[in-house]
Amino acid sequence: MKIAIAGTGYVGLVTGACLAEVGNTVVCVDINKEKIEMMKLGLSPIYEEGLQDLMRNNYDLGRIDFTVEFENAYRDADIIMIAVGTPERSDGSANLDHVKKVAIQIAENAEKDVLVVVKSTVPIGTNDEIETHLRKHLKNDVHIEVASNPEFLAQGTAVNDTLYASRIVIGVESDWARELLEKIYQPFNQPIVVTNRRSAEMIKYASNDFLALKISFMNDIANLCEIVSANVEDVAKGMSYDERIGNKFLKAGLGYGGSCFPKDTKALHWLASDHDYELKTIKAAIEVNQNQKMKLIKKARNMVESFEGMKITVLGLTFKPGTDDMREAPSIPNINYLIERGANVVAYDPVGIENAKKHFGDKIMYTTSIVDALEESEMCFIMTEWKDVMDFDIKEFKNLMKNPIVFDGRNCYKPRDMAQVGVEYHSIGREVGVPVLESILN
Ligand code: NAD
Repeated sequence: MKIAIAGTGYVGLVTGACLAEVGNTVVCVDINKEKIEMMKLGLSPIYEEGLQDLMRNNYDLGRIDFTVEFENAYRDADIIMIAVGTPERSDGSANLDHVKKVAIQIAENAEKDVLVVVKSTVPIGTNDEIETHLRKHLKNDVHIEVASNPEFLAQGTAVNDTLYASRIVIGVESDWARELLEKIYQPFNQPIVVTNRRSAEMIKYASNDFLALKISFMNDIANLCEIVSANVEDVAKGMSYDERIGNKFLKAGLGYGGSCFPKDTKALHWLASDHDYELKTIKAAIEVNQNQKMKLIKKARNMVESFEGMKITVLGLTFKPGTDDMREAPSIPNINYLIERGANVVAYDPVGIENAKKHFGDKIMYTTSIVDALEESEMCFIMTEWKDVMDFDIKEFKNLMKNPIVFDGRNCYKPRDMAQVGVEYHSIGREVGVPVLESILN
């Protein structure tokens, strides 16, 4: 089976490498020449565990190739997957320009019957529109059809999530499309949910938005825990034994970021409004997340006269561990806030520095050493729960920092342990506020 993939981002490249791994011939297309050249040299343009080796091995075996020449790639493919970005427009709706552009490129070049598979996250009804658009611009007399195959991988575990996916969702309108996709995914031996295109599109948004809602719910509860002197981690643990709730996504913190949850919550909310329906739950998830991002820095701001001239450490820049992706990372508004107030920021991240430079340039200092970042620091903010940060010897905060004050947005340590080593420690949902009994008695 010859498969072409449009877009070599987190979804396109990982999908391409995994489909090559199970024996398909894959050609990955991108408009970014630099990326293509890197990949031809065996270098992955994104950081994802296991991806570079998978790419290289399959390139050496001749099963995967990379190109900017979409004409050749689309001409004789059996399947063309669209995995380009669908970023947020300023009103919250999804921007489909890249998807539409690829559709035109396919229509103008396809010379044999082809199934176009949309992996990009697109609003409900988009697959129908793309099919109409493709057929309208078709140059040759071939059969062209669209199937929805939303992607559920998570950055940081993308290769594993693809090779061992919890499920494959395919939205099809014909047996031909269903059989082709079932054949492609058969070697992965994963459960396949077959439905129509609109339901498949909705499954993707509903899944992402549900997870975002779960995060915002726990953050809302964490904020209340602080007020009533409860501990959100114990609360989460107590909840997690109930199988109806589950034990994932119950961690309180600075909220969700990344290229998916923020835009996918807003896109579904926008879509609902466009149909005169208000998705109240998603609206709440968005609002809670917005407030959560800056929670600790505002608390810190109330504790000092000014950040002017202070050396402030930021541990972790990426939106979560395991990725170099900075899109919608809480570190961005927090660091910008500090820069605007004259702080001297030193940021640690093991893999995100190159991408972070696109946001902050030389306005902050960067290091891949936690020790260097903390030396003589007057305040520390933890933005990403990298393993190196979680495993860090907490006594070193006291030894290295000028003022050992830590604001932990990811609850990496135990408040009692930090108190024992003499660090002033603020985290999420575990503060000791007014003891509940005391306040009730008063
Ligand atoms: P990305 O931004 O990392 O990559 C998109 C790539 O498409 C870029 O390399 C860009 O140069 C390329 N591109 C743009 N126009 C092109 C064209 N005409 N032809 C070929 N290439 C083109 O995107 P991503 O994070 O992989 O996301 C892709 C889609 O998958 C989005 O809709 C996203 O919502 C969805 N998704 C993302 C994730 C994730 O974790 N990143 C997970 C599930 C679904």
